[in-house]
Amino acid sequence: MTERKDELAANLARVEGRIAAACAAAGRPREDVTLIVVTKTYPASDVRILADLGVRQVAENRDQDAAPKAAECTDLPLSWHFVGQLQTNKVRSVVGYADVVQSVDRARLVTALSREAVRAGRELGCLIQVALDAGEQARGERGGVAPGGIGELADLVADAPGLRLGGLMTVAPLTGEYAGRQQAAFERLMDLSTSLRRAHPAATMVSAGMSADLEQAVAAGATHVRVGSAVLGVRPGLG
Ligand SMILES: *Cc1c(COP(=O)(O)O)cnc(C)c1O
Repeated sequence: MTERKDELAANLARVEGRIAAACAAAGRPREDVTLIVVTKTYPASDVRILADLGVRQVAENRDQDAAPKAAECTDLPLSWHFVGQLQTNKVRSVVGYADVVQSVDRARLVTALSREAVRAGRELGCLIQVALDAGEQARGERGGVAPGGIGELADLVADAPGLRLGGLMTVAPLTGEYAGRQQAAFERLMDLSTSLRRAHPAATMVSAGMSADLEQAVAAGATHVRVGSAVLGVRPGLG
């Protein structure tokens, strides 16, 4: 356990150094960027260590894993982000522990999240997940709404009881015009965020960048980076 704690502390310090360097290079104050540690596939004991090391924001992408893990960690001062594709039949469970759902990408999901947030008496933060590899109106391979669909979905979230529109999220596309061009992808997300904030000034969150591309995200202006493997280690298999 102390060995694991040392390992996670060293990894966290390295990631912290990368974020600080990226902020300095971009002329941004360090506190502009929030680190969210993606704990998917790793046990609640790791989440506990991370909390002990000062991490306050964690993310998960599958409700089946996240729900029991969050239940084991209710005593910790953590905010939970849900970052995976979300089926409406999982919404009730996710609203039970998530503070922010970053993967809002369709009207039906907004309706379901709103209903469950109201029922639970909570206010749930919502980010619109943008698919930069989608056609103008389609949804992306890994979820997300095409840029042309952001405005309508954002209005829906903003008007939905129990929901708070936080901003935008993306995952750098593996295919299409942005493949291998993370910074260009994140700059496009920033432009979309600027447009969004004209109608919704409080929707300031821009969640972009993972272990491999957090520097590009910070350079482009991201407010939140989602880092998994660089902190916890490379995940076995998919996830
Ligand atoms: C897994 C995951 C991350 C973290 O990815 P790493 O490469 O492990 O840093 C970030 N965002 C989403 C949506 C993820 O599913």
